[in-house]
Amino acid sequence: MRYHNITKDDMLNGDGLRVVLWVAGCNHCCKGCHNPVTWDPNGGLEFDDASKKEIFDELEKSYISGITFSGGDPLHMSNAYEVTELAKEIKEKFPKKTVWLYTGALWEETKRMELINYVDVLVDGEFECDKKDANLHWKGSSNQRVIDVKETLKTGNIVLHA
Ligand code: SF4
Repeated sequence: MRYHNITKDDMLNGDGLRVVLWVAGCNHCCKGCHNPVTWDPNGGLEFDDASKKEIFDELEKSYISGITFSGGDPLHMSNAYEVTELAKEIKEKFPKKTVWLYTGALWEETKRMELINYVDVLVDGEFECDKKDANLHWKGSSNQRVIDVKETLKTGNIVLHA
């Protein structure tokens, strides 16, 4: 897996202060994408032990609410396996921290993936320029959904994050 950045004390990509991993690789090609430099799975830097330590050091801090996976698309074929392993390890080591994940895929396409077991909030769907609205919370266009994964799995119906 490759990535572009690890941002810290981030307030724009989920609840609280978060560490955000911006992975490389996306094939959704949304018109108006804010981050097309991240589409190339060969771009950026290799995600290695030092990168992982950088994330875990952040998660050790009591004021950090959790991690957000973004990009790029964490579910791109070049990322999905490693993101799954990473999210699993984070949930084991930091059970009180939340995991958010942004993807261009839909909930219906992802709900049976192992990774979903380690995700608290999934922001799904491609960015649609004509549905863009700066007032939306945690998402760029109104077609996207900020899904409470645990409640959705429990009830069988999509429950949006409050
Ligand atoms: S899914 Fe996200 S990163 Fe990928 S093209 Fe769409 S807006 Fe850009």
